[in-house]
Order: sequence, then C-alpha cells, then structure tokens
Amino acid sequence: MKRLPTAIAALLLTFTGQAVAGELTLGNSVFGQQNFIEYVPGDLPLIIAAPHGGRLRPEEIPDRTNGVTDIDANTQELARTIAAVVHAETGRHIHLVICRLHRSKLDANRELAEAAQGSAVAEQAWKEHHAFIDQACEDAVKRHGVAFLIDLHGHGHADPRVELGYLHNALALADCDEALNEATYVNSSSLRWIVERSGLSHTELLRGPLSFGAMLEANGFRATPSPRMPVPTEPFFRGGYTIERHCDATRNVTGFQIEANRPRLRDTAENRLVFARALLSTLKTYFTVHLGLGVDGRKPLEPGAPIARLQTTVPAQTQQPSQ
Ligand SMILES: [Zn+2]
Repeated sequence: MKRLPTAIAALLLTFTGQAVAGELTLGNSVFGQQNFIEYVPGDLPLIIAAPHGGRLRPEEIPDRTNGVTDIDANTQELARTIAAVVHAETGRHIHLVICRLHRSKLDANRELAEAAQGSAVAEQAWKEHHAFIDQACEDAVKRHGVAFLIDLHGHGHADPRVELGYLHNALALADCDEALNEATYVNSSSLRWIVERSGLSHTELLRGPLSFGAMLEANGFRATPSPRMPVPTEPFFRGGYTIERHCDATRNVTGFQIEANRPRLRDTAENRLVFARALLSTLKTYFTVHLGLGVDGRKPLEPGAPIARLQTTVPAQTQQPSQ
C-alpha cells in the first residue's frame, strides 16, 4: 500500500470545514485524522466500504458500551484483495473506504449517536468515513454516470451464504412479487436506480435469473436472495445505515450490502482471493447487464477524460482531534 506523504495528508485535513482542491493519486491511500479512516481513490464506478474490519483501539476513544462491538473478521483484508484483483485485471482502481478503528471504538455503519457514543474523536472519524464515501460516489458519477457502492461485512450465521442487503428484510422479501414491485418497495430499495432504468422488475433484480444472487451462485458462492433462496431464512441482514444513506437514486448511486460468511470465503488469504475473483466475475456480468458499463470502466461519460487528477472535497472537521 502506497501512502501520500504524511505532510500532504495532514495539510489536506488542516483546512477545517473548507472545501479544498487537492491532488490525489489513483490507488494511493489518504487518511483522516490519525489514520483512523483510509480512502484509496479510484477511477472505476465501484466503491467498496469496509466499516467493521478495523483493529485499532486507541485509548483516547472510550469503548462503546451498547450495540455490537465485534469485528467482522478479515473484511478489511477481503476489501483490499478485491481491489487488487480488479487492478490486476483492468489496470484501474476501485474506490476503497476502510475504517481502521475497531468496532468497539466506532461503528461506522450506524447513526452517529450509536456509532460514536459521545466521543468527539470517534465522531470525527465517522464524519470522515461517510465524507470519503460521498466523495468516491461523486467522483464515480462524474466519470461514469453512476456509482455502485458495496458495503462489505461478515456474518456469523449458521447458513454459510452471502447475504445481499437491498434494504429489505426477510419478512419484506416474503411478500408477493406484485407488492414488491410497487413503488413503496422500489423507492426504499438500494436498487431503485437500476429498477428505474431496467426492463426488469424489482423482483427480477432481487431474485430472478439476472439478479446478483443468481450470478454469484453461478460463480460458486451460495447467496440469498437468489432464485435458489428467494426469501432468506432468518437471521438475515437487510443492509444498514451506510447503504440507506448513500444508495440514493436521485444522486445516481446504487448498490447493496454484502454480508459474507466466513468459512471458505474470508477465513484464509487463499479463500479471500478465490472469492474476490468470483465477485469480479459476477460484477462484470452484472455491470454489463444492468449498468450498461464494463466493470473496467469502459464507456465513460467523457471519453479521454484525465484519470490522474481528482478534485476532492475534504471532510468537514468540526473539531480538532485530540493528540
Ligand atoms: Zn458488519
């Protein structure tokens, strides 16, 4: 992992609350305060965020006292492996946003109050995490007309399947197709942007032969919802704060939450590589069919647009981090 000189990253974050034009290098990490949040800028329409794979436990942030505090083991490593696999194949970069704080210090996939539980330092990291996602999505939309966000997690449920969170819980997914295809469900779906542009119905996109679940299963990983399991068995994660906040059809952002099982998927480096390749293979088909865009970013809005410079807005900083 390459890093910009610390002085540059620090300089960027010195402009408290101001939008500044900064120069980032594709594939090179920049960091928020004290390196708690990491952003790797990319030039592809795909953004992966890993909020629960951090391991840092700074003493200055008190332990969170309510809510889930367990790490989603190896999801940070899985996200980096996916980025590396995409780069090896396309020569280009996805956007990566990684919370390096342990979940006992910050849960970036919750509303601020539950996420940081009163710690000003954790609150600042939370703001940076979501500002980096905003920044990545805006950049992807500028380049490609759409941003595809995957919030990457790991579950410990008994059934070893990949759970796809479109913001519909298992009870909602048990509803009939007719109901799920009505505006109420579509408007609250993370796939709304695709539904509005697709010849396919919402339920076809959720669990039909061209759904992400179907394609991922064809690449060797069990998934739900999918044609095999259109209604997930409980427990099932529906997608959380990050997908709810950022997957906004009016801003051309779509995507979903991935909850990955651990055995044979994220437990070893070798298995993470196998899954990353299967995911890329799945995304290639999915992007072509549903976004009209190669996962390698071909068909950009502005062919020939420079890719080596990014205009960036630094996250607003409401308080200087304590040292
Ligand atoms: Zn998680």
